[in-house]
Amino acid sequence: MSGPASIPFIDLHPGEDDQVVREAIDRVIRRGWFVLGPEVEHFEAAFAAACGGPFAIGVGSGTDAISLSLRALGIGQGDEVIVPAMTAAFTALAVIAAGARPVFADVDAGTLTLDPAACAAAVTSRTRALVPVHLYGQPCDMERLRRVAERHNLAIVEDCCQAHGATEKGVAIGSRANAAAFSFYPTKNLGGIGDGGAVITADASIAERIRRLRNGGQSGRYEHIEAGVNSRLDELQAAVLRARLPFLADWTARRRALAATYRRELPTWVKTVDERDPGHVYHLFPVRVPDRDRLRARLTSREIETLIHYPVAVPRQPAFANMGPADCPVAEAAASELVSLPLYPRLAVHDAARVAHEIEGFQKGRQA
Ligand SMILES: *Cc1c(COP(=O)(O)O)cnc(C)c1O
Repeated sequence: MSGPASIPFIDLHPGEDDQVVREAIDRVIRRGWFVLGPEVEHFEAAFAAACGGPFAIGVGSGTDAISLSLRALGIGQGDEVIVPAMTAAFTALAVIAAGARPVFADVDAGTLTLDPAACAAAVTSRTRALVPVHLYGQPCDMERLRRVAERHNLAIVEDCCQAHGATEKGVAIGSRANAAAFSFYPTKNLGGIGDGGAVITADASIAERIRRLRNGGQSGRYEHIEAGVNSRLDELQAAVLRARLPFLADWTARRRALAATYRRELPTWVKTVDERDPGHVYHLFPVRVPDRDRLRARLTSREIETLIHYPVAVPRQPAFANMGPADCPVAEAAASELVSLPLYPRLAVHDAARVAHEIEGFQKGRQA
């Protein structure tokens, strides 16, 4: 007799979008136009409309979306930018890529998103911007963060790399920021078949500057008026993203249903991350448990795959060792307890329930 089927952490094999994705790829190959063409233009318009735009600029990655946003805002050498201590390290690497210095602020213990009080305490005379991260798909407390920014005259670049389609109090995340950065890395809520990213902004001059920066700083052909980079969303990615965008709302609904299943079925000793707004899009479903390694081993033995987001607070990464001390006890405590459970649109609700029941069984085994 074989046991229950294995549950991978994520499944990116062809699904319901298979046909339209293949058509999109064919269209690009037949057209023979691969960089900065009609697919990027169409996708930018569609993505701007979906995000409360009005401008969207396709770039090479989410990391570049953040760094080019900062550069377009005139932020660079000698400037400080506040980032949360719990996020993908790429958030902080993007600040360095822009030439500025990341300053880490701790996260809120309930939501693990940037703590507005810690953020306010991290402001110095050199601070120019905040990069709040809508971590795991959960909107940050933007109302309080905006107050901090207004008080100190700081720009806001929202890291929306895990939060496509998320809303806070019904308003699309990123739509009120100076700029908002998205990633289309394949595992994201809206993912391509390679790297990609986009910036959303309501400011026409920021949009124009990012368009220039992504293409070598050219204002016209062979006219480089500033030192830009090569960070263009390619036609193949744009065509695939355009084909997948209409599925996003349905995929988000399924993510929410799976998260609700976990919240209902998990035993009470498992600490979940607070949901402070139903606009959460559940890129990930991390939980906090004291003996994480043993729980992961137990789930692995049942062929249930888990990952950790993230095992190290960002300022504790060697890459940031020379950035100065950062006091982030909340992020450090979380880093030692977090484990992300499988959650993706194609995961069946009964499989999520099975994961929850295996975790419950782990505790019973421990008590026995
Ligand atoms: C994925 C991610 C990034 C980086 O995006 P890339 O497209 O991989 O460069 C930045 N911040 C967060 C929070 C992310 O999840």
